[in-house]
Amino acid sequence: MTATPAWPPQSAPRLHVETQLGDGVAVPVDGNPAHYLISVMRVKPDDIILLFDGRSGEWAARVRDMRKRDLVLECVSQTKAPEEVPDFWLCCAPIKKGRIDLIAEKACELGVAKLQPVLTRRAVVDKLNLDRLHAHLVEAAEQCGRTALPELGAMVKLDALLREWPDDRWLFFADESGGEPLNEALRAHPGAAAFLIGPEGGFDPAEREAIRAVGKAVPVSLGPRILRAETAAIAATAAWMTLNGDWR
Ligand code: SAH
Repeated sequence: MTATPAWPPQSAPRLHVETQLGDGVAVPVDGNPAHYLISVMRVKPDDIILLFDGRSGEWAARVRDMRKRDLVLECVSQTKAPEEVPDFWLCCAPIKKGRIDLIAEKACELGVAKLQPVLTRRAVVDKLNLDRLHAHLVEAAEQCGRTALPELGAMVKLDALLREWPDDRWLFFADESGGEPLNEALRAHPGAAAFLIGPEGGFDPAEREAIRAVGKAVPVSLGPRILRAETAAIAATAAWMTLNGDWR
């Protein structure tokens, strides 16, 4: 008996595109993604590529017209419905380049709905390259099978974030100076949530007070050791996903 080949082929490259996907839709690809498919993955006409646009699930598409530097793919069937994304935002202060990139990559893999950069007083970095962060989110989503890209917020100042904090979302505040034990705090506050993580230098006392004054704020401890900001962001997200998100 001949084995039925897997559908979609397990080795199919996976790519995020801007074009809205649907049955029979032609998707032109050029620039870096085309280079990746043509020169790195060495795709051939009729090969299958998996595509997602962030809103229409995942589609298998066939390579149609292929030139040196660009190609056209044609959607042939939907391979995944749009994913359900747990209602979790990661709000974190900008930190040094490689470290904030790591947060973006891991946040996407762990399933966050939104990554929100927040400027705090002790941040050592006050500018963020949102295009670069977006590229890290895209790459992680391609790699980990997500069909939805996390939303990437423009950087906001801490006081503005707090002033406009929605009253239907918990704000778990990772306070290195102490808070409720994480496990109990998460179990006691199910539902839509965000985590707020400080920069390398932590929050200053006035910021700490302002955060704690928000009605939905829940100050939490991530244990007796001081974690680096990126570790705190990744660990807190994993803990939320375990107790209140979609790892249950
Ligand atoms: N330099 C600061 C630590 C900053 S750690 C100091 O020495 O106090 C960066 C951020 O990670 C903190 O602002 C906090 O949001 C989070 N964090 C790190 N360790 C933590 C812990 N044990 N409990 C709660 N939050 C923690």
